[in-house]
Amino acid sequence: MGIQQIEVYPVTLAYREPFRIAPGASTESHNVVAKIVTDYGVYGWGEASPSERVTGETPETVIKVLDKIVPKLIGMCPLRIEQTVELMDNLVAENPSAKAAIDIALHDIFGKTVRKELFRVLGGYRTDVLTDITLGIKSPKEMARDAVKAVKRGFKALKVKVGVNPEEDVERIRLIREAVGEKIHIRIDANQGWTPKQAIQALNKMEKYNIQFAEQPVPAEDLKGLIEVKRNSPIPVMADESVHSPGDALRLVEAEAIDLINIKLMKSGGIHKAEKIAAIAEAAGIPCMIGCMGESEIGIAAGAHLAAAIKNIQYADLDSDLLLKEKLAKKGGTKVKNSMRIFPKSHGLGIKELDNSKLGKPLKVYK
Ligand code: MN
Repeated sequence: MGIQQIEVYPVTLAYREPFRIAPGASTESHNVVAKIVTDYGVYGWGEASPSERVTGETPETVIKVLDKIVPKLIGMCPLRIEQTVELMDNLVAENPSAKAAIDIALHDIFGKTVRKELFRVLGGYRTDVLTDITLGIKSPKEMARDAVKAVKRGFKALKVKVGVNPEEDVERIRLIREAVGEKIHIRIDANQGWTPKQAIQALNKMEKYNIQFAEQPVPAEDLKGLIEVKRNSPIPVMADESVHSPGDALRLVEAEAIDLINIKLMKSGGIHKAEKIAAIAEAAGIPCMIGCMGESEIGIAAGAHLAAAIKNIQYADLDSDLLLKEKLAKKGGTKVKNSMRIFPKSHGLGIKELDNSKLGKPLKVYK
């Protein structure tokens, strides 16, 4: 039983509208899809959605890294995931999104080989997952209107992007809370946009609007600042850009710098290491969220299956496929109904058919 062929496809998907967060705006997501074909008739889909801002990766670096890794995988058993992860790390340091594309495709194969939905074989803790939807940065009034629209679509949790101007950020939250009422969960993400002092002031002013948690208030590398914010914030603090790997999770846990961790497959290098982060966090009493970058239905399905599988992944921000105008999956993938990610009754990730007009021809075929 071995890996026979690996195909690599660069894919560009447009957002419905420019998506703005504290460091800048995006109009398109540039992803790289991997298809791993085995010699026993099973194949798997994986995806990289690289973020230069977060991991330094671009589609070009992903393709380069895959060119180093992929030839070494031909002939390997696709179920030896721990061994494959070790091999990838020995060949190339960092570059977690490129590695995630391989890791996700191997997990898809795993589920298909044992003929189960992936979440059932990864732990099977829940059968659906509550996801939020993200509101990109606009004027406070426009964001309040977007919040009402999202709630009308059935979303029960909103992730509100802030981190531009603390006074205006507080106004954003005030107007959104007023517009959606008390029952909707509101979580915020400053994407490193505040100083520790600004964060402490803003979070204290936001306390009365019942915020679930605040993601990455200060720059990723400012550990002292993060600790200071956590000690002085009435709202729990979640690390995103500060935690990529299991090692990062351990360091922040030991430093008592955070209350929560946002795991992303594009930072961890895929599902296998994401499980290790969730375990480290669980031992420290720190709940996790699973987030996303600009993944299509493939990467989002991977995150959703993991979130359903693992008890300590208590929150989900799995919405990039909904923010994208263009769909890569024609059939299958997870769907959203009343804020819940639900799973099709099909094996592995459940991606049934991709849109060939979006996928195009493979850039590279390795065999
Ligand atoms: Mn974030």
